[in-house]
Amino acid sequence: MRIVWERSIYGGNGRVPCIICGGWANPVQKQGHQVLLAVVYNDRGQIYGEACRSCVNLGAKGIKECLQERIARLRNQLQDLQELERGEVQLPSLEQELSAYLE
Ligand SMILES: [Zn+2]
Repeated sequence: MRIVWERSIYGGNGRVPCIICGGWANPVQKQGHQVLLAVVYNDRGQIYGEACRSCVNLGAKGIKECLQERIARLRNQLQDLQELERGEVQLPSLEQELSAYLE
């Protein structure tokens, strides 16, 4: 992975998702109208997304740790969703549905 500060390709200075922590990356306003974002490239040189400033500040080791934690979290989430998807879907009864709206 390679991270480079580059001019934002997006219009304005709106925030974009950080692909490392999943939070938001706020562009850095430079003098004039220049807006910079930390662009993340994969090892094949393809743009992968943007990183927030605090992730960039974590350094190489910290970024890896952050990614490992996030991967573990997402794996757990995926397992939970797969478990939910496996079972039958039972919707509330019509009575329950009605009382939910009437109360
Ligand atoms: Zn981040």
